[in-house]
Amino acid sequence: MNIVYTDNNATTRVAPEVLEEMMPYFSDLYGNPSSMHSFGGNVGRKLQEARERVADLINATPLEIVFTSCGTESDNAAIMAAIELNPEKKHIITSAVEHPAVKNLCAHLETKGYTVTYLPVDREGRLESELLYSTMESKADDIAIISLMWANNETGVIFPVEEVARRASDKGILFHTDAVQAAGKIPIDVKASGVDMLSLSGHKIHAPKGIGVLYVKNGIKFPPFLKGGHQERGRRGGTENTASIIGLGKASELAKGHLGEMDTRIRGLRDYLESELLARIPSSSVNGERRDRLPNTLSIGFDAVEGESILLLMDQVGICASSGSACTSGSLDPSHVLMAMKVPFESAHGTIRFSLSLYNTKEEMDHIIEAMPPIIEKLRAISPFWKK
Ligand code: PLP
Repeated sequence: MNIVYTDNNATTRVAPEVLEEMMPYFSDLYGNPSSMHSFGGNVGRKLQEARERVADLINATPLEIVFTSCGTESDNAAIMAAIELNPEKKHIITSAVEHPAVKNLCAHLETKGYTVTYLPVDREGRLESELLYSTMESKADDIAIISLMWANNETGVIFPVEEVARRASDKGILFHTDAVQAAGKIPIDVKASGVDMLSLSGHKIHAPKGIGVLYVKNGIKFPPFLKGGHQERGRRGGTENTASIIGLGKASELAKGHLGEMDTRIRGLRDYLESELLARIPSSSVNGERRDRLPNTLSIGFDAVEGESILLLMDQVGICASSGSACTSGSLDPSHVLMAMKVPFESAHGTIRFSLSLYNTKEEMDHIIEAMPPIIEKLRAISPFWKK
């Protein structure tokens, strides 16, 4: 059976061009980039090229790029750097819909005496910025960092990062954004947006798992999160993951070249899938603001059925997607994102996230569009909550 893979916000396939560029660095070209000999030095030069390519994706300079092991490490490194730099500041501002990489670190810091403000979102998943701006006015001197995601991994809703970064900079407050989902899907320009730190993750943009980036704006002090060797100009110890960094360089170059296609062809496929599912399946609704949204993401709730059961039946016909439940925690409660948006329980429970990549086709959308109505109908027939 052919697999229709629409779970690209979870992870993406490594692009063949990326794999090809990585392969020699697992075998023949295994030198340590820090070595004095030219065998290692040649790898160092290839790392520099990768750094330039990643920088180019977000309009940074190569010196502002710090390679990490993943998006989670980048998020942790940014927030921990801010609190280490400002030990007297005990307040962190974030949102109620962040990825666990930020959310759980903030919860941990609360146990260490920090106050965390979790900014609410509205019914459409948009940031309610009033509390943010009033807290920035009243507590500016106590805020160590503001950390807000550029785009949400479940709904694709985009936050007004530029506006917040500008206001934070006016107040002299550090601003970090988790752009793990935004990168490669919408243009990102760190110079124009004025963010201080920004996280990326390789495996969301067709590079391998286990490689991430933290952009640190030139001039921002950055105590290393991993203390060790001199790598990354002393900002992250540990011998470089050379093959993956080189892969991420290639993936970044490809992602930049494909932004136009993301905005047109992939957005078109997502919109087609969305309108057909809404038309063919009664009592279905989209979660989140539809305009300011990543072009590849569709979070759709089907009333009176359960996400995990839908996924199981989808799996039987070869379709991969995600549900909107907090299944990672072993519970079937709706995710913290859908709960923060106050999505009614009935549809939050039956929420499925489709997330597309450049590899998806119209034929695949047609397969999903044909497969979904009978699946939902079958589950509703046995649902005690389906009264229509
Ligand atoms: N931030 C967001 C918004 C994400 O979606 C993810 C992964 O799902 C992460 C951070 C964590 O990235 P990684 O898996 O590279 O640690």
